[in-house]
Amino acid sequence: ERQKHIRNFSIVAHIDHGKSTIADRILELTDSVAPRDMQAQLLDNMDLERERGITIKLNAVELHYHAKDDQTYIFHLIDTPGHVDFSYEVSRSLAACEGAVLVVDAAQGVEAQTLANVYLAIDNDLEILPVINKIDLPSADPDKVKKEIEDMIGIDASEAVLTSAKVGTGIPELLERIVTDVPAPTGDLTAPLKALIFDSVYDSYRGVVLSIRVVDGVVKPGDQIKLMSHGHEYEVTEVGVMSPKAVQRDYLMAGDVGYLTASIKSVQETDVGDTITSAETPADKPLPGYRKIQPMVYSGMYPVDNAKYNDLRESLEKLRLNDAALEFEPETSQALGFGFRCGFLGLLHMDVIQERLEREFNLDLIMTAPSVDYHIEMTDGTEKVIDNPAQLPDPSLIKEIREPYVKAEIMVPNDYVGAVMELAQRKRGEFVTMDYLDTYRVNVIYQLPLSEIIYDFFDDLKSSTRGYASLDYEISDYRASDLIKMDILLNGEPVDALSFIVHRDFAADRGRLIVSKLKEVIPRQQFEVPIQAAIGNKVVSRATIKAYRKNVLAKCYGGDITRKRKLLEKQKAGKKRMKAVGNVEIPQEAFMTVLKLN
Ligand code: GDP
Ligand code: MG
Repeated sequence: ERQKHIRNFSIVAHIDHGKSTIADRILELTDSVAPRDMQAQLLDNMDLERERGITIKLNAVELHYHAKDDQTYIFHLIDTPGHVDFSYEVSRSLAACEGAVLVVDAAQGVEAQTLANVYLAIDNDLEILPVINKIDLPSADPDKVKKEIEDMIGIDASEAVLTSAKVGTGIPELLERIVTDVPAPTGDLTAPLKALIFDSVYDSYRGVVLSIRVVDGVVKPGDQIKLMSHGHEYEVTEVGVMSPKAVQRDYLMAGDVGYLTASIKSVQETDVGDTITSAETPADKPLPGYRKIQPMVYSGMYPVDNAKYNDLRESLEKLRLNDAALEFEPETSQALGFGFRCGFLGLLHMDVIQERLEREFNLDLIMTAPSVDYHIEMTDGTEKVIDNPAQLPDPSLIKEIREPYVKAEIMVPNDYVGAVMELAQRKRGEFVTMDYLDTYRVNVIYQLPLSEIIYDFFDDLKSSTRGYASLDYEISDYRASDLIKMDILLNGEPVDALSFIVHRDFAADRGRLIVSKLKEVIPRQQFEVPIQAAIGNKVVSRATIKAYRKNVLAKCYGGDITRKRKLLEKQKAGKKRMKAVGNVEIPQEAFMTVLKLN
């Protein structure tokens, strides 16, 4: 029957090891794309992704492959994003597959993201098909890489497929191996419908388009469906597959990967990881692994030009149509004026949103330092939740401040366990447990304050483990901590958008570091600007930005007019992301110094 001829798989790889190029070759060899539609790296949709080399949106394409056994197979190639902010989405898209093609660069060997992704694939019980790519490179050493895969990942690599995606070598063999090695789906066609949502995008004509993997049963237009997390019901309007353009089908059945529309108005209703079932004959329990996604970090977003406030709101509304994890609400800052408090999954997500607003919507923005949310118990017994340090009530009214803690799972080769523990300890971590997964891999679990994680933990983790550690975390609870607010004063005036919340033990150090950083990043003005860091009335650190005297143009001796013009243009461009606070011009970087203190 049909399921026997379906193969659902993802390609996982460290960045630049050749995932997109291999996907392109597979697409070519399966004649899925007319040559004139072929463009390099078809799966990477957005410009931004292409430039950053990260894949943000998930994608699934259906391909038809005529194999050596003279049968035609249906391949669903499911693309995954590649960053820890999106690790939940990666794991959900892997959950839609039976197999993962693991691509490792023949010259570079196993690297950080290779491990992180392969661990997620192993967690989802996928068959791993190792591929050693770039064998055309003079520095390629496939045997060494095979051994690395065996030692570090613990899977048999003796049969790894050797490819050069650049030249096309090995791709035909890879296609055969997908047929023979990746298991066919084994869903129950007659059982009640169960389908996994692994992505959702908003389309202005059809409403939300869900990417789904049907696990059991059948779904077709006209069916009444129910989303199991919140029980809302919808009528299916269309089902189909991406091939790679949308192609309508009469139905999707167990084993299929495709899309579904049901006049759903917003992606906020359709959580990735949720289970679709039939409203009339619902499944008794949802698919495992669902997690409600929620913002982890918050930042204020302000237009440089106050007149652009409405444009910013409209742009955020547009982005939210396609981004269930983005939250925002209006806020005002004494220093920055009218803006929005936005919630993000993590710092990468925040960067991506900021960049899209600036690039696609042509806005110049100032963003304030990211913060987590704090639960505050007041002395009068009431509770407050704040996600903006400037809103922290007067300390005399506070009984207790609780901050979010996460359970962080760090998978790492055992040589680096010491380095990981040292780092976690330094970040106020509490050791929970450590498991040897095999002779090589260790899973280290810590309870850590989320605020320490979002700042620079991931970068520090990567540098202290040569990039070999993977990190996954989930909020566990809120715990009381000895936290205080640090105010930053410029010219004697507190700048609300620069204040931050910090653990008392680290406060004095952070205050000093911030002041010295701010001194570097705030340009000289016409007058002297004192900078102070203060806890309440107590100044813990101070510095002064000297006034600047010289005329900038004086540097261009003589009359080189083009050079003068260039200099002025450069200054103007530099000004773009500056905001006048009182009479001091503050550049965007100043608000992010709190992130860059190491
Ligand atoms: P991704 O980040 O894993 O999607 O990697 P890409 O597919 O974008 O490839 C990264 C770089 O490696 C690109 O410049 C590719 O042209 C190059 N590349 C991919 N496959 C091969 C290969 O087999 N041989 C060589 N020499 N270069 C390759
Ligand atoms: Mg790519």
